[in-house]
Amino acid sequence: MVLELNNITKNFGGISALTDVSFKINEGEIFGLIGPNGAGKTTMFNIITNMFLPTSGEISFLGEKISGTKPHKITDKGICRTFQNIRLFSQMTVLENVLVGGHCRIKSGVIRSVIRTKSQRKEEEFIRETATDLLELVGLSSYTEVVAENLAYGQQRRLEIARALASNPKLLLLDEPAAGMNETETEDLFDLIKKVQKRGITVLLIEHDMPFVMKLCDRITVLNFGKKLAEGTPQEIQNNKDVIEAYLGSE
Ligand code: ATP
Repeated sequence: MVLELNNITKNFGGISALTDVSFKINEGEIFGLIGPNGAGKTTMFNIITNMFLPTSGEISFLGEKISGTKPHKITDKGICRTFQNIRLFSQMTVLENVLVGGHCRIKSGVIRSVIRTKSQRKEEEFIRETATDLLELVGLSSYTEVVAENLAYGQQRRLEIARALASNPKLLLLDEPAAGMNETETEDLFDLIKKVQKRGITVLLIEHDMPFVMKLCDRITVLNFGKKLAEGTPQEIQNNKDVIEAYLGSE
């Protein structure tokens, strides 16, 4: 078990964003979190990364309770995310963006123990090698010196994923990665997420593009008005009457 959410409730004043939501994600899965606008999906990401504390409920990551852990410590533990709106260092080059993610990785206890035995220069080499590898993974090897804001939209999205991967996560959270992408960009993203999974990284993604979600995910949880409506394989979700009525039918 990589991630376990137990009875998560989040209230903002009088608004109940999440009510008693539980689900578990297995190692190596691509897990989808779907539901209509305002269903509580991004709030769940903010709770997993401890940007918000839940009103009640508990989160365990790799068997350890992480509720209350500071957001930067969450990265150290192996959870990294992208955001609904692109948040790159737009004036920095593609390579520099990924190097920033790599320098976050040094803070990780596991990596620090590796790096302690290397010289300062070796450390930098290690981060650069990782960044080069990740840029190849996301198909941006020939754009290393391009300023990030000059990339096409789909490339910027892939760069965000490379930067997140540079912190060496065990769990990658993607918030609407396919939003705004054209067909080719969406296909490239699909291949990329599959490659990420092949590297042994578990993926949790929020997405509104249903054909994409149904083809990509191993399992899915559906939220509606902050409550869990259903959970299952893509086929089970597509055939679930409550889900069709509340969400899929309106797509
Ligand atoms: P979308 O698909 O549109 O991104 P979502 O499923 O991600 O929606 P959330 O953004 O999690 O939904 O919002 C769930 C509910 O919580 C909404 O009613 C929203 O207005 C409310 N909410 C989220 N963040 C806050 C906040 N910081 N303060 C007050 N209310 C909030």
